[in-house]
Parts: sequence; C-alpha cells; structure tokens
Amino acid sequence: MSNDDLRRQLEFYRDIGIQTLWRRDAVLRAAAVVEPAVIPEPESPSLIELPPLAPVGDTLLKIRQDIGDNCRRCRLCEQRTKIVFSDGDEKAPIVFVGEGPGADEDAQGIPFVGRAGQLLTQMIEGTASKEGIPLKRQDVYICNVVKCRPPDNRAPLPDEMEVCGQFLFRQLMVIRPKAICALGGTAAKALLNSKEGVTKMRGKWHKWHDIPVMVTYHPSFLLRGYNQAGKREAWEDLKKLLHFVYD
Ligand code: SF4
Repeated sequence: MSNDDLRRQLEFYRDIGIQTLWRRDAVLRAAAVVEPAVIPEPESPSLIELPPLAPVGDTLLKIRQDIGDNCRRCRLCEQRTKIVFSDGDEKAPIVFVGEGPGADEDAQGIPFVGRAGQLLTQMIEGTASKEGIPLKRQDVYICNVVKCRPPDNRAPLPDEMEVCGQFLFRQLMVIRPKAICALGGTAAKALLNSKEGVTKMRGKWHKWHDIPVMVTYHPSFLLRGYNQAGKREAWEDLKKLLHFVYD
C-alpha cells in the first residue's frame, strides 16, 4: 500500500470516528502500554494494523457519540435538521433498516414516524397480533442506512451510503440481532451488495455476515394506492420474519 493510499484509508477511519490506531509490534511487546499513532500522520505506516470497522468494546452510545451532534462527513449534512440515529429496543432480536429519514423524521430526530412509519408500526404490531406474538414497535430496533435526510426525499447516493453505512455496520455488530429486515431496495442493496431489485429479493432469506436478512418493500412504496398486492406480499414477508425470530 502506498503512503497516499494509507493516508486515504486512515482519513476514512478518522471520518467514521476511529481516532486512534495501535502498532502491531508495540501491542505484541507490551500488552498493557502501547503508543497510539495519531491520524493522519503515521510515522511508520508499515507497522500499523488497521482496526476492524467495529471496534472491540463498541457500544451504541459510543457510535452515537462518534457521529457527533454536527456530523459533516457527507453532503447530507447540508440540509438536515436532526441526525436520526435509531428508535426502539437496543437489545431487540429484530432490526428494521430503512434507507434514510424523511421530512417528519428529520424534524423529530426519530426514524419512521411519518405516514410510512405509522404504516410500519401497523404492519409490525398487526402481523404480530394476528400471529399470536406479543410484540410492539418499541420491542424492535429501527434505523436507516443514512442518518440525515436526503434532499427532496431522493435515494441516498452510493458515497453517502458508504460513509454513513459504517455507523449502520457498527450498530448491527453491537446489537447482533437474530434477524434483520431490509425495508426496500436501497437498504437491501446497502446490506447485501446485490444488483437484484427488491421484487426479486423480497420474501427470501439472505445473509448479512452470519445474520439472516429478510427483504421486503419499504412502507412508503406500500402507501401508493395501487399496491394491494405489494401489501399482501409485505405482510407475508413479515409473518415469515416474526415466526423465524419468535417461534
Ligand atoms: S448522513 Fe451520516 S455521514 Fe452523512 S452527515 Fe449525516 S450522519 Fe454524517
């Protein structure tokens, strides 16, 4: 790796909140006391071992602190009102992942609180109740691939998802749910790196690392009046997800 490549990679780690790296030889020599190499000016690049993206001992609180109150790591900071981190139970066995906040979420700082969010709540609670599973919205964890609202509700761009997606990666690694539900094609692509559309991916099990992922439609897609068939399919997907987790 050239010095420029290394510098870029170190800057990337700094941007996602990792401020300190440890030299492999120092760790081996003295487990208790090691000297930090400060980003972005490593003295001996060849001796630096980059940490995993999810640091050991990571917590949701630490991830939120690393994002900060005024994150400017991508252009989505320009028009956002509030950073939207998550909602729900941090120990939940299911994590729902959408693509990004909309206007209501941006105003309140909570994911899935607008019309699409209300539909998601109905879908979770309605399906669970019909299937005899005592589950409320607050029992699951809900978040998005990007934490700031894309202007005009456009889909997040690949570079925005790459930068902010590192926080999602850490959230999922900390929670390690029994299953993940990807809401819509953008979340599915971000998690599964697949070129397939949501209609092909939905209703089937996929894997994010070793965690099963169910893909279904985004609730905002289901709000369009002509989507009765889509609604039925999404309910089927949720049934499959809930029975997998709670049976
Ligand atoms: S979308 Fe994520 S990376 Fe971009 S500014 Fe918001 S919090 Fe930061």
